[in-house]
Amino acid sequence: MESSPKKKLILLGATGSIGGSTLRVLREHSDRIELVGVAANSNHAELATICHEFKVPNAVLSDQSAYQAAEQAHSFPSETQLSCGETALLELCTLPEADIVLIAVVGACGLKPALTAIEAGKDIALANKELLVLGGAFVIEAAKRNHVRLLPTDSEHNAIFQCIEGHPREHLDKLILTASGGQFRDRAADTLADVTPEEATQHPNWSMGPKITVDSATMANKGLELIEAHWLFGLEPDRLEVVIHPQSIVHSFAQYIDGSILAQLCPPSMTFAIQHCLLYPDRASGTEKTLDFSEAMQLDFKAPDLDRYPCLLLAYEAMRTGGSSPAIYNAANEIAVERFLAKDIGYL
Ligand code: NDP
Ligand code: MG
Repeated sequence: MESSPKKKLILLGATGSIGGSTLRVLREHSDRIELVGVAANSNHAELATICHEFKVPNAVLSDQSAYQAAEQAHSFPSETQLSCGETALLELCTLPEADIVLIAVVGACGLKPALTAIEAGKDIALANKELLVLGGAFVIEAAKRNHVRLLPTDSEHNAIFQCIEGHPREHLDKLILTASGGQFRDRAADTLADVTPEEATQHPNWSMGPKITVDSATMANKGLELIEAHWLFGLEPDRLEVVIHPQSIVHSFAQYIDGSILAQLCPPSMTFAIQHCLLYPDRASGTEKTLDFSEAMQLDFKAPDLDRYPCLLLAYEAMRTGGSSPAIYNAANEIAVERFLAKDIGYL
């Protein structure tokens, strides 16, 4: 039997948390996926290491001084074409040989690269949720017009994608996103004012970048994900729900009109969703071990306390208001998190 050609991948945000999980998938499936381009902001040493290991022909550093430092250090392999700046990042997204672009940069800076890749006819694996919250209408329209796939890589949306595939859309009643509730789920409410950036960047279940870990504590992450689900799956806010599930094993539910509820389960690691997107529609053996039901396991669910998580309420409000409200929600959150991490403002 003839083996199918390798998928050619561009990875934006290669040095981050999602980037690292993606590299693990690539090590496991080097016969199926090939890295043809990588980008990071300023971590040139790490990006150079990635280029050596995966023999990546194209790399971009957004940050000018990081690029100069890399040039001086001659740290990249001579076969890698290294460039710098936003124009170079956008050009990378149009690389003729690429099939798919994984957007794993953090924040609003993902929007332009995503739109550029879509216009160039590349399939998108979408980890970055901020770009949909900011420009969902444009992204969805562009994807339809260019007949490209938007493959949901965020674990909840990937779960839903797997649960609704092959089912007539009119049979779907609602989507229920699971949320860990973050690291302060059980912390006394009157001590939340004292939360430090160090505490807010440690998650009990997931190992993730600092911004999304803070978003997870405040549940602004789930707020962003509700809006992301609205755009990806075309459901109105009253058909999108959130349930707290502390173990992060069930990654979301799709409920059908007859009351049947489908779920997707796997351990809390992003390699499952990333691999699903990168090999889609094919499947292969997992990068990591999955759940083992011979070991005792408990799955708990409870409704979120909206007094504890006002960011969740604000997301519903932004979604219902529509227009630029979700973009404002996202911008306010990005700036608040940045200032909190810089110790400019407190947690509350
Ligand atoms: P990290 O902070 O760990 O990594 C961010 C990556 O983006 C780094 O590689 C960084 O480069 C790069 N980057 C930032 N700005 C630019 C820029 N202007 N140009 C090029 N590269 C840039 O973030 P995460 O991996 O945690 O998250 C990435 C996205 O995925 C977020 O939108 C997040 O919400 C989403 N997501 C993450 C999950 C997770 O498990 N981490 C789960 C689900 C969704 P450098 O290292 O040089 O700064
Ligand atoms: Mg998620």
